[in-house]
Amino acid sequence: MTATADRPATVAGTGTTTRPRRPATLTDAFLCDLVARVPGSGGQTWDLAEVYTGETLVQLPQSTPADIERAFAAARSAQQEWASWPLRRRLKVFKKAHSLLVDNAQTTADLIQAESGKNRRMAIEETCDPVMVISHYLKRAPKLLAPVKRGGPVPLVSSSTEIRQPKGVVGIIAPWNFPFATGLSDAIPALMAGNAIVLKPDNKTALSPLYGISLLERAGLPKGLFQVVCGEGPDVGPTLIDNANYVMFTGSTATGRVIGERAGRNLIGCCLELGGKNPMIVLDDVDAEEWVTGALFGVFGNTGQICMHIERIYLPESRYDELKARFVAAAESLRVGAAYDFGPELGSLISVDHMQRVHSHVQDAVAKGATVVTGGNPRPDIGPAFFEPTVLEGVTGDMLTGCMETFGPVVALHPYRSVDQAVALANDTDYGLNASVWGADVDRAVGVARRIHAGNVNVNDSLATAYASKGTPSGGVKQSGVGARHGDQGLLKYTDVQNLAVLKKQVMGARPGQDYDEYVKGMLTGLKMMRRTRIR
Ligand code: NAD
Repeated sequence: MTATADRPATVAGTGTTTRPRRPATLTDAFLCDLVARVPGSGGQTWDLAEVYTGETLVQLPQSTPADIERAFAAARSAQQEWASWPLRRRLKVFKKAHSLLVDNAQTTADLIQAESGKNRRMAIEETCDPVMVISHYLKRAPKLLAPVKRGGPVPLVSSSTEIRQPKGVVGIIAPWNFPFATGLSDAIPALMAGNAIVLKPDNKTALSPLYGISLLERAGLPKGLFQVVCGEGPDVGPTLIDNANYVMFTGSTATGRVIGERAGRNLIGCCLELGGKNPMIVLDDVDAEEWVTGALFGVFGNTGQICMHIERIYLPESRYDELKARFVAAAESLRVGAAYDFGPELGSLISVDHMQRVHSHVQDAVAKGATVVTGGNPRPDIGPAFFEPTVLEGVTGDMLTGCMETFGPVVALHPYRSVDQAVALANDTDYGLNASVWGADVDRAVGVARRIHAGNVNVNDSLATAYASKGTPSGGVKQSGVGARHGDQGLLKYTDVQNLAVLKKQVMGARPGQDYDEYVKGMLTGLKMMRRTRIR
């Protein structure tokens, strides 16, 4: 059986694709205006295409190293002024931006869908992410950025104050799977802290972040503060990293290693949010209906192109057949399609290249003995990069999809005998980004969750609860990343600490002519007293 193709995108019975009706917002003039912000003095461009059809939407300028250096110079000059604004004035820009981002969510979603091929639900949900990040940090930034007075070494006469200063210009390198969220959400706390940004989105998905930046500027963000440069990663990356004071990277583990090495050589900090091979453990007391709904989104949401999506499901042997049957039936009923409305439950993969990579993982698994329970095939009748929701059994560690991130609508089901075995299998990976545990007894499920080595673990949800909890840092462990976004460290990482120490009177060290033995005695007594005193 195959998943249902969404009818508006296809001519029933023939399998011939009709062109999905492109939203009226996406005029040539609008798109050309968006990309005009990207410098490309070398005259080279890249065909940015509508994923559903493969048709070119706009020619995206490609930035030369000189363009990137000029972008940093302009950002650096705008940053001086921006950092001198009182925090309250900077935050006012984001209060206004919050409304503008919400009011223009439909246009943003049009752009996200056109450039990424995802379905409407995911595009709209993506527009909410920067808005949630703004809400969180509007409340939290004043506390995080306020100077904190600490005690000095000698009570009363000395003090030390922790002052948060912006790093300068932050380079952000973003992937294609959530281009608007990763392009904007990681920039927001950096900007609030007084930094400028130079963003390098993926060539395929530059439009939605460019639009988001235009909204931030409409809200009052100074022009020049948020620069965008475009090009292939290896062409743009080195110049970007060499000019940045900090790098925020989201993407694959392989690229993360390259970025981290260069940042390390330059002695600048970086945050690396990388890939995963995320497991889900289903306990034997699970409510099957609730679980199927949650698991379906966890596996197939964003067509399986969410870094935190689930690629491995461990089911208790005692309920394996029942749970498998429910999950497979639900996967087969998903409406797959190319449309700018809420009809399709599953959209396209990002590109034909990526679809072929996903397909090759399935073919490799089958060649090595795995079974396709459902799906397993491209759907060119819907669009060039569509792929069926796919469920596999019998996947082992020697298969590509058994050990590597597939990053598509593909999941492997595995039976387990004991919870200990399930936990061991879940942890048997180089990655540690996300995990999910389901069970009716929440305390028991939480107990299992605590045993999983992952930066995020969701109980009775697949991924959204952890990701949407903006107050808690979210990042990967093991090969899934270094550092985190969200939470206090999601903003503080974009700052340097200045320890401003003041001594009101010279009391440290022996006074001229003082007997040194006497001084040491006094100092040692003082140390004993300091442990007890609360005076600072
Ligand atoms: P990718 O690593 O190929 O590319 C990510 C970005 O890095 C793109 O903008 C790309 O142009 C750029 N890039 C590539 N090579 C570069 C280089 N040598 N120097 C500088 N920049 C370079 O990843 P992708 O395929 O675009 O994205 C999918 C991956 O991202 C998946 O592995 C997914 O799990 C991961 N991801 C992780 C998170 C997270 O928060 N942990 C979120 C989203 C995506």
